[in-house]
Amino acid sequence: MATPSRFEGYDLLNQSPPYVDVDLYGSDAPLQAAVAANGGAGEAAELSVFGRHWGSAEMFDLARQANENVPKLKTFDAKGFRRDEVEFHPAYHRFMAESIAAGLASSTWRDDATPAAPPAQVARAARFYIAAQVETGHLCPVTMTRAAVAALAAEPTLVAKLMPKIMSRHYDARFRPWWEKTGITLGMGMTEKQGGTDVRTNTTRAAMASEGYIITGHKWFMSAPMCDAFLVLAQAPGGLSCFLMPRFRPDGSVNGLQFQRLKDKLGNRSNASSEVEFADAFAWRVGEEGRGVRTIINMVQLTRLDCAIASAGIMRMGLAQAVHHARHRTVFQKHLADQPMMRSVLADLALEAEAAVALVMRLCRAFDLAASDPLEAVYARVLTPAVKYWVCKTAPAFIYEAMECLSGNGYVEESVLPRLYREAPVNAIWEGSGNVMCLDVLRALAHEGDAARALFDRLAVDAQDLPGAADLVAFVRSFDPRAEDDARGLVERLALLAAAAALRGSAPAPVAEAFARERLTAGVGITYGSRPLVPTEREQLIARALPA
Ligand SMILES: Cc1cc2nc3c(=O)[nH]c(=O)nc-3n(C[C@H](O)[C@H](O)[C@H](O)COP(=O)(O)OP(=O)(O)OC[C@H]3O[C@@H](n4cnc5c(N)ncnc54)[C@H](O)[C@@H]3O)c2cc1C
Repeated sequence: MATPSRFEGYDLLNQSPPYVDVDLYGSDAPLQAAVAANGGAGEAAELSVFGRHWGSAEMFDLARQANENVPKLKTFDAKGFRRDEVEFHPAYHRFMAESIAAGLASSTWRDDATPAAPPAQVARAARFYIAAQVETGHLCPVTMTRAAVAALAAEPTLVAKLMPKIMSRHYDARFRPWWEKTGITLGMGMTEKQGGTDVRTNTTRAAMASEGYIITGHKWFMSAPMCDAFLVLAQAPGGLSCFLMPRFRPDGSVNGLQFQRLKDKLGNRSNASSEVEFADAFAWRVGEEGRGVRTIINMVQLTRLDCAIASAGIMRMGLAQAVHHARHRTVFQKHLADQPMMRSVLADLALEAEAAVALVMRLCRAFDLAASDPLEAVYARVLTPAVKYWVCKTAPAFIYEAMECLSGNGYVEESVLPRLYREAPVNAIWEGSGNVMCLDVLRALAHEGDAARALFDRLAVDAQDLPGAADLVAFVRSFDPRAEDDARGLVERLALLAAAAALRGSAPAPVAEAFARERLTAGVGITYGSRPLVPTEREQLIARALPA
């Protein structure tokens, strides 16, 4: 898109052109390398088509519209009858249709709810990462739909009924019973007013009824309320259990989900998150009574993975905007991108973004191979919470620094950076907040025992000879998984070690070495650009970040 050069009688100078009509795959060398290194090389041509489409000016503008025109709850109609519907802007529906058509809600499954063959996870993750760069809010129901299959797999009858609708690449936004629709989406309700982490305190009750259960109670956060069914937790006679609650009862009447209000959120504005009361709502049980957490945790593991992928995508967009702007903006007779200190900042941001994408794609590879390789299954189990912790927590400060590269222009709403900035914290908060991720790593280490030690051996080999790696391996090997108070230190080191190992497998050697030197060895440098990179490293990192 051309930038107008004349404006109201004077020249409009020194503004960078809009960052639109880009190939979000072809312009991202670290992504291409990470996809190829993790079994996805054969996807390159299709990913480039996807990247060009999602990087079009039209898609960026639709994202703006979907976020400026937030969803509205329609609780009642004019005569006082309940409606309990949420209206979204057409731009939101367009993103849902695009993502579902691209398989983001289904492509990692087969029709019988077993995992699709590799590199299904990596191929989908690359698309998810690209989509997150453009519009993140709609990805909430997309990720929940694909993840819900992992929990539903416990109930073959439900799988047989619902999988054809889940596997459909057709988005059907109509408020109709699921069996009348060409495709469906699924959500999840666990969090209640008294707490989201300790779901054992859930007070929502489930009583057996003909064909299923009747649920009474509430959820304090239940996102994407126009999903066709929700996996919810409730107390059954046998203890906390998992249920699938459809929007319509089997007799075709509207089910008892009464939405109280929508959350007024910091970010994630295109997506609706509701407070809901269950008034004798019908549901099917999923898994055994009393094993609700165990059943739904299979879903949660996948939503945590998607949080990390999305945060890496948000970081990528912040970096691309920063490098693009700095290459066009002149200060003191030089492009910003040629000012030595700005080069240090951009290169350091690029290094962090390289590590994030290398690590999430390596983790997706572990999901791809988990069924056939026990060590990869342990990698996925232990590192999912660690990677979610590190990548999602890195994103907000990263976006802030990228915003500062554009400074005033980055701070205003018309640039995409305020939206990215508001979006960044939520991935660390939902699906298990930071401390909860650390507790989950400890739990996994204690449970896996020898298998966890084998994972550390593998990381030691993969990161061999990188600066600082040996010390981190020694630290994680000697860590006592009962030491909750130091768990953040463990998890951060584990994620950094895994990131260095992942970079070793996908990025050029100097990139992996620079990351290990700057992040694995102790030293000064809390802010971006304060860690000493050598000039050739800076050149390489910035060149890989975005083609000039
Ligand atoms: C935009 C948005 C949408 C959401 N959508 C959904 C949804 O669709 N479905 C759903 O079920 N939930 C949803 N949630 C809720 C979210 O998952 C919860 O907010 C989250 O799980 C944390 O629960 P909580 O807010 O009750 O915090 P709490 O459980 O009160 O935790 C508060 C803090 O304490 C920490 N903490 C907890 N236990 C320990 C411990 N033992 N040691 C040390 N620290 C600890 C946590 O890490 C957290 O930082 C959504 C939240 C947001 C913000």
